[in-house]
Amino acid sequence: MRRLPTADEIPVAGRWQRGRGTPLECVDPATGEVLAKLTAASPEDVDEAARAGARAAADPAWRDLLPHERARFLVRIGDLVDHHADELAELQTRNTGKTLTETRALVRSAAGTFRFYAAALETTETPLTPQRGPYLTMSVPEPIGVVGAITPWNSPIASDAQKIAPALAAGNAVLLKPAEATPLVSLALARLVDEAGLPPGLLSVLPGKGSVVGDAIVRHPAVGKVSFTGGTDTGRTIGRLAADKFMPLTSELGGKSPTIVCEDADLEQAAAGILFGIFSSSGQSCIAGSRIFVPETLYAEFVERLVAGTRRLRVGPGTDPDSQVGPLVTFAHRDRVAALVDRAREEGANVLCGGRIPDDPELAGGAYYLPTLLDGLGNDALTCQEEIFGPVGVVLPYRDEDELIALANDTIFGLACGIWTRDYRRAWRLARRIDAGTAWINTYKQFSISTPFSGMKASGVGTDKGRDAILQYTRQKSLYWGL
Ligand code: NAD
Repeated sequence: MRRLPTADEIPVAGRWQRGRGTPLECVDPATGEVLAKLTAASPEDVDEAARAGARAAADPAWRDLLPHERARFLVRIGDLVDHHADELAELQTRNTGKTLTETRALVRSAAGTFRFYAAALETTETPLTPQRGPYLTMSVPEPIGVVGAITPWNSPIASDAQKIAPALAAGNAVLLKPAEATPLVSLALARLVDEAGLPPGLLSVLPGKGSVVGDAIVRHPAVGKVSFTGGTDTGRTIGRLAADKFMPLTSELGGKSPTIVCEDADLEQAAAGILFGIFSSSGQSCIAGSRIFVPETLYAEFVERLVAGTRRLRVGPGTDPDSQVGPLVTFAHRDRVAALVDRAREEGANVLCGGRIPDDPELAGGAYYLPTLLDGLGNDALTCQEEIFGPVGVVLPYRDEDELIALANDTIFGLACGIWTRDYRRAWRLARRIDAGTAWINTYKQFSISTPFSGMKASGVGTDKGRDAILQYTRQKSLYWGL
C-alpha cells in the first residue's frame, strides 16, 4: 500500500484507471496543505463500474461461493486493515483532521466489521418453514446484485466498512462513493481489498461530487439498493429518486441528540461524558449530543462544571497525541460553523465559552474553531433545531420529567440520546420515551458492531450494524416444493 496519498487512479470495474470526472483536491485541514490532487469519477465511470459489478456479482466464481468461502475474503480484508492500521489512521487524520486516537479507533472498528460479517455469514441459518400442507416451503435470501454505498466525510473507513462488509457477505458487488473531501482512506481500503484477492469488479470506488457521481449511482438501472449515510436533506433527495425506481434505501442521517443530566447523577462523570458527547470529533458526528438538558435545580452548578471542562480541552492538530479537539474537516465547514454561532448570537444566545476561531498563532493555518457552549435559547430556536455538525453545544434547563421528554422529542430528528442518572428505573423510563434509535445510559458514543444502529424520524430509515444488516442487502425469494 502506498504510504501517502498520491492516488492518480481509482478502482473502476476491476481496474485502477484515471477517472473521467472533475479532479478533486484533498487538503489537510490542520495546516491547509494540499495532500493530493485526485482523479475523480464521472457518470461514464459509474456506468462502467455498475455494468462490471453486475457481471461480477452474477459470475459463478462469486455467486456460487459457499458462505465460508466468501467469509474468507472478508477475514483477509479485516486482517489487512489491521496490518496497515497505523498508515490508515494517519491518512484519515491528515485528510479529516480527526485526532489519531479517534482514527485509530475507527480503523480497528473497520477491521472488526469485516471479521464480524465473516463470522455472521458462517453462522447464519436459512430458515426452513415446517411442512404446512402437501408441500415444503422455504424462503431464500438472494443477493441484490449491485449495491451503491454513499458515505460522508466524518468517519470514512468505519462507514465504508459498515456498508461494504455486509453487502459483500450477502453476495453483491459494491459501488462505493466516498465524500469528495475525504476519499483517500477509501481508496487505500480498496488497495487492501485487491490485495485480499476479491474478484475484480466487485468493488469500485468512485470519488467525486455527490450531485454528479452519487446521483449517477442512485439513478443507475443496474443499482438495486443504496445504503446512504449523510445529511437529512441529501437523504430526502436520494429517497425521492429511490422511490421512483422502487429501490430499497437504507439511510443514516442527521441528528440533534439530547444528552440529559438528572439530579441524582454522578455529576463529574456526567460532565465528562457530556463534553465527550459533543466535542469529540470536533462535534462532527451524527450522534453529537448537541442539546444538553440540565435540571433547573442544578443549572448554575452544572453549567460551571461544563464550562470549566470545555476550557480545559486541548485544541490542536489530530497528529499531536495531546490534542483532544482537532480542526474541522474543511475551511468552508469551519466558516459555516462560525456563521451559525453568529446566528445563535442574533437569536439571543449567551456564549458561555468559545464562540470564535482560536487566536493561538500555532493554529492559525488550520480550520479550527474553539469548543463552544451556548445557553439562553429556547428549544425552538433554530440553533436548537438544526444540526450544526461542529463543536457547539446548547445548554437548556428543564423543570421535570414530562417537560424534559417534551423538549427532548421536539425536533425532527431521532438518532440518539444520553442519560446520566443513578436511578435505573428513571433511565429505563427516559430511554423508552425519547425518540432515538440509540440511548446511552451513563456512557456515550460507545459502539458495538453486533448492536443494530438506526435512526427514527428524519434521522433515517433502516439499520446498519448487527448481523441482520446482511439481510438488508438481499431480496427474499420463497419456494414451494410439492411433496
Ligand atoms: P452529505 O449529505 O453532504 O454527503 C454525504 C454523501 O452523499 C457524500 O458522499 C456526498 O458526496 C453524497 N451526496 C451529496 N449529494 C448527493 C446527491 N444528490 N446524490 C447522491 N449522493 C450525494 O453529508 P456530509 O456533509 O458528507 O456528512 C455530514 C452529514 O452526515 C451530517 O448530517 C451527519 O449527521 C450525517 N451522518 C449521519 C450518520 C448516521 O449514521 N446517522 C453518520 C455520519 C454522518
